[in-house]
Amino acid sequence: MLELKGVAGGYGSVPVVKNVNFQVNAGEILGIIGPNGSGKSTLLKFIYGFLQPEKGQIVIDDQPLTSYSQKNLAKKIAVLPQQTDSAFSYTVRQVVELGRYPHQTGWFSSNSEKDEKVVNKAMNDTGVFSFADQPIDSLSGGEKQRVLLARALAQEPDILLLDEPTNHLDISYQLSLLDTLKDWTNSKQLTVIAVLHDLNMAAMYSHRILLMDQGQQIALDKPSYVLEKTVLEKVYDAHLQRKEHPSVPSPLITLEPSDRSFEQPSDLLNTLTFDETEERVCISSRFYWKTLSSAVIGAGFGWHRFFVNRHVDKDYDCDNPQEEYGAYLQNISLETADTVGMMTAALLKDGSFIRLKDSEGDVLVYATAGTSNAVDVSKAYENAVQSFTIGTINIWIFIDGKLTEAAYAQVMMTATEAKSKALLDHKIIDNHTRTLATGTSTDSMLVAAVHSGKEYMYGGTASPLGKKIGKAVYDAVAETLEKYNQRKNENEEWE
Ligand code: ADP
Ligand code: MG
Repeated sequence: MLELKGVAGGYGSVPVVKNVNFQVNAGEILGIIGPNGSGKSTLLKFIYGFLQPEKGQIVIDDQPLTSYSQKNLAKKIAVLPQQTDSAFSYTVRQVVELGRYPHQTGWFSSNSEKDEKVVNKAMNDTGVFSFADQPIDSLSGGEKQRVLLARALAQEPDILLLDEPTNHLDISYQLSLLDTLKDWTNSKQLTVIAVLHDLNMAAMYSHRILLMDQGQQIALDKPSYVLEKTVLEKVYDAHLQRKEHPSVPSPLITLEPSDRSFEQPSDLLNTLTFDETEERVCISSRFYWKTLSSAVIGAGFGWHRFFVNRHVDKDYDCDNPQEEYGAYLQNISLETADTVGMMTAALLKDGSFIRLKDSEGDVLVYATAGTSNAVDVSKAYENAVQSFTIGTINIWIFIDGKLTEAAYAQVMMTATEAKSKALLDHKIIDNHTRTLATGTSTDSMLVAAVHSGKEYMYGGTASPLGKKIGKAVYDAVAETLEKYNQRKNENEEWE
């Protein structure tokens, strides 16, 4: 176990590190982050005994660092320094063998069998075995980095210090290095203290993070507690957003350019262009809209500028609708990455557009509806038959403004309630249960906002935006249902 108590010091009389206190346990990865010049490398130099702190104490396994001989310290701690110059033309194997020095006795000790085994394993683990006989100077920066890591591992330390170890590595080696370190902390109870530049890597791999600023210890805790937007913005003097990693429970920090570099005009609802045929409705914009949708193409959050509602046959059946739809878009020269694409078996000529605009805001709703697979959501579980008919109520909501993520979620709720109310008022029946339907089994929804101009915190029915969306969605769904019913009654061709 390593402990720092009130450690402070630097170079000469200027204190570069001021009062750092922490303990690291066996098997732990401690990430150190902080801006350039905040004292991270200096702190590591104290820990491997390269520099003496002016104040405080460093204790390793209950003994003060100062009581260790250089050789004994090297058995405890190995270092991968920030600067990786190698002045001599050693071969890779020779460099890694240097790591065995603290374990050898006598002046002219030769490598034992154990040394050779450890050296080979270290080269294997870091993927440099195939370079073993090449001079280290002939390797790329990333390869050299891995050789030096192999040397550190050959030391068989309890504690491994790494100073920006991923700097010269491409993303795949960054991941494999950190994966390997994580493995070793589990399997060998290795302790890792790593200065990491990349906040997201630090967040994913560290058990705890130490945040330094101007020599001060600002925070020391779990990544999700330390990586706070306001703290980071202050320390790094940069605009950033904190999101959550989509697949692992870890924060995700994204940088933001200055507002101006991505500025776009507001009043963009007026710039939309509409292209309507029997086969599809396509709304296009020159600008990107921030969207949240359950569409076939472009689901989840995204940035899009083409919106396609495609009519397909009632019997449309496809193993891979994304792929099929992608090919369809390619055919009509639309980039999948720029497009939100929905499908419906409903006739597009029954579609309805409602725009509500006043001093409080500007929204446009587009809806298409067919109700042959209408469902009562409260009874859907009674129906064993899984109905995967193509989405029959599609609702698009365009908003001239900037929404919080909460507002996106609330707009979805508001619009869903409005849709259900329209179905109830039109007495649409679930054919399986003979009760009133609340939707159809494959409905889809899109919320698109220009992300400029007016800002909306909320989209629920208590908010002016929510009220507008409630009415526009209700009216649009009602209108399209009426057209649909009318044709059904006239016994025309209907879905
Ligand atoms: P970090 O690793 O966080 O970027 P460092 O610990 O390397 O920061 O440096 C902290 C401060 O100490 C910086 O202001 C730097 O200029 C200074 N410093 C670093 N190394 C030396 C040195 N060898 N002699 C004098 N000052 C130094
Ligand atoms: Mg540094």
